[in-house]
Amino acid sequence: MPNTPWSATSDNLDQDCHNWSGGLRFRPSRLEVPESEEAVAALVRTAARQGRCIRPVGSAHSSSEIYLTDDILVSLAKIRGLGDHDAQRHRATVGAGSQLTELSKELQAAGMTLSNFGDVATQTVGGAIGTGTHGSGRNSPNLSMMLVGGRLVTAEGEIRALGFDEEPDLLRALRVSFGTLGILTWATLELEPLHDLHRQEWCLGFEPCMEALDRLSRENRNFDFYWYPRSDEVKIRCLNTPGEEKDYGAFARLAKDETGPPHAVIPQHSDLPHRFEEMEYSITAEAGTECLGKLRARIKERWRRWVGWRLLYRYIKADDSWLSEAYGRDSVSISLHQNATLPYWDFFLDLEPIMRDHGGRPHWAKKHSLRAAELKSLYPMWDRFLALRQEMDPHGRFLTPYLRRLLGC
Ligand SMILES: Cc1cc2nc3c(=O)[nH]c(=O)nc-3n(C[C@H](O)[C@H](O)[C@H](O)COP(=O)(O)OP(=O)(O)OC[C@H]3O[C@@H](n4cnc5c(N)ncnc54)[C@H](O)[C@@H]3O)c2cc1C
Repeated sequence: MPNTPWSATSDNLDQDCHNWSGGLRFRPSRLEVPESEEAVAALVRTAARQGRCIRPVGSAHSSSEIYLTDDILVSLAKIRGLGDHDAQRHRATVGAGSQLTELSKELQAAGMTLSNFGDVATQTVGGAIGTGTHGSGRNSPNLSMMLVGGRLVTAEGEIRALGFDEEPDLLRALRVSFGTLGILTWATLELEPLHDLHRQEWCLGFEPCMEALDRLSRENRNFDFYWYPRSDEVKIRCLNTPGEEKDYGAFARLAKDETGPPHAVIPQHSDLPHRFEEMEYSITAEAGTECLGKLRARIKERWRRWVGWRLLYRYIKADDSWLSEAYGRDSVSISLHQNATLPYWDFFLDLEPIMRDHGGRPHWAKKHSLRAAELKSLYPMWDRFLALRQEMDPHGRFLTPYLRRLLGC
């Protein structure tokens, strides 16, 4: 299984599995890597007969417990690559186990690209879609909005074809459902024709960045920034169609300038030397700077000596996926980081209430302390999602104790 953080199989599962950061360790009773969609379906049927739990996993980059199980863990690593595609309509059906890095190269050869990426492209299609992974841009929704169809192995072990046009509500629920409605085997994605982006990074002071923030976020295709607590400086990251970029030389210093296809210039970190833990909340775009101001003040007052990590501020376009962080509202996300080997919970738990006070919704794949009662009030479609989940998986084949607590079922 390339690029997953463990190499165990069912035959040599004699050590704990762990996630990317190393902070989560667990030992499934079996790790399965089926060769085909039919084999995934057969696994689920057997699990159903035996009354067992089955969890899909991608590259194990999530640092919340959403795939942890002591029962059956199934990797889609062998269901990968570019399937049927239509470069004229910019649509492709791809294996849900495909890693975005590899998949992007296949799409490039076919003249297409994903419209956006996160900071890395080591996620799988199934994992990135299932958690609402996002990049940044006022007009860029999260990656799961690319899902317009595909194939799902249901809790009964049947293979169900999916299409947004035929069942829009199922797709709205499925896009961000972290494997609780079924196992996605093939994903049909709405893509873009291959194009280049010009990436420029500029360094400037915090105050000048805040003064220009609204304009900066509107005049760049993709825009986000890092705030560095120790220097109180900011690095803005701007990506545009070549020729449409702006010159910020009057108030900022150019730190990076490169052009290439989206997969080459949006994800910036392929092999991060330091493993970190992360807490991220999304709040409305309007509340973003006020929330940031309070976080900055608290970090300067209490944490600057202990936490050297930068804070990341990004934009996510509103969408209609029921459990998406950006459901129904243009959002900004604020991410906090700390070394995975250092204590991080005190830092996160001190700052989490500030983001919650601003109506924050936590990233499903990252650290947070919320459970069903608090989450329900943040998601207008929560009850509909739970009703659909109950209908699709009445015996909780895809649920673990953590997911039962998270969802309240
Ligand atoms: C270094 C790093 C950088 C990151 N950068 C960003 C970023 O820029 N933006 C952002 O939003 N997030 C980011 N993340 C979070 C990351 O995108 C998510 O954790 C994502 O889910 C990881 O994909 P994965 O393939 O590792 O999925 P996993 O972590 O393995 O799984 C995630 C969830 O998806 C489910 N799942 C996996 N495959 C399937 C399938 N085939 N069918 C159904 N369910 C499935 C799993 O059960 C689990 O619930 C980052 C994480 C790391 C470690």
